[in-house]
Amino acid sequence: MQPLVGMELSDLEQALGPSQSRFRAKQIYTALYRQKVDDLVQISTLPSVLRTELAVEHGVGLPAVERRYDSVDGTRRYLLRLSDGRTIETVLMPEESRDTVCISSQVGCPVDCKFCMTALMGLERNLTAGEIVGQVLFIAREHALLKNAQPLNIVMMGMGEPLLNLANVLKATRILCDPQGVGLTERRITLSTSGIIPKIAELGAAAVRPKLAISLNASTEEQRQQLMPITRKWHLADLIEACRAYPLRPWEKLTFEYVLLKGVNDSDADARRVVRLLAQLNAKVNLIALNPGPGIPFDTPAPERVESFQAIVKRAMPCFLRKPRGLDIFAACGQLKRNA
Ligand code: SAH
Ligand code: SF4
Repeated sequence: MQPLVGMELSDLEQALGPSQSRFRAKQIYTALYRQKVDDLVQISTLPSVLRTELAVEHGVGLPAVERRYDSVDGTRRYLLRLSDGRTIETVLMPEESRDTVCISSQVGCPVDCKFCMTALMGLERNLTAGEIVGQVLFIAREHALLKNAQPLNIVMMGMGEPLLNLANVLKATRILCDPQGVGLTERRITLSTSGIIPKIAELGAAAVRPKLAISLNASTEEQRQQLMPITRKWHLADLIEACRAYPLRPWEKLTFEYVLLKGVNDSDADARRVVRLLAQLNAKVNLIALNPGPGIPFDTPAPERVESFQAIVKRAMPCFLRKPRGLDIFAACGQLKRNA
């Protein structure tokens, strides 16, 4: 049974078959992505026979809440249950001027980064396009987002490596960015990757695509191999070359994320090497002081160390420090692992 959420208009037309007018597909599309219905009964414009048929053969397919964790800083972490009973995490970070939803692209992650709790799960499976879009629809519905002028940002920085599930991530992005559908814009969706080099070019070739962020996390090949073993296959120099060749849109910069690990990759010399690595790129850097967790063999650097690192990079390019959100409920970067 293929659920309706995750279908583009052409998929819906096909699912309805030639006996239905195209107008019906359009009605369902609007109900799913604009009205964000979670039950077919809510599509009152559809003939009841068709509603019943669709309910039996497809269903809407939004995720269900298994648990919700509330942080003192307003962050909400959801453990969402998928149709096969597996669970993923989705995080809402409300702010004064905008809301940000952090969504997952896989159940677990096969990339074995040494500082990340999701890595400890391994990969269970890829999410479907519907399960990726479903997280956004669920949160928007639950919190009545997208109803006023408050902008919504989406970051594909939850569980999983999005470039290892690129076809579904791109399909989800098309649905999210369709003005007839969810109606977000490409400028407000960011995908973060550990650096799956061949997939970077593939992403760049897509007509509708999120902004690109690269998890750099090290200043030398050797250091990166130790922290992110995927570097043994996809080397740092080639990653930088892939970034150089990446077709940025006129309004776009490449973002590099850098998790600072005390005494490992946080020295002034590291900062200077980062500047040299990125010198030829139209880049900005987001620093993240390690969010600790059980099973993670690293410490968070002192604030002075972080400031010193940031000051060096900032002389060469924009460099921001990402404020941790939802630390008290294990919702911050690298902490998503279905913690109770
Ligand atoms: N798999 C993708 C996206 C999810 S991870 C990627 O790796 O880019 C999102 C961000 O969280 C990455 O930049 C990653 O480097 C960072 N991260 C992972 N573990 C972390 C931790 N323990 N503390 C802080 N940031 C972490
Ligand atoms: Fe996977 Fe990203 Fe975690 Fe690395 S940092 S294990 S790529 S989720």
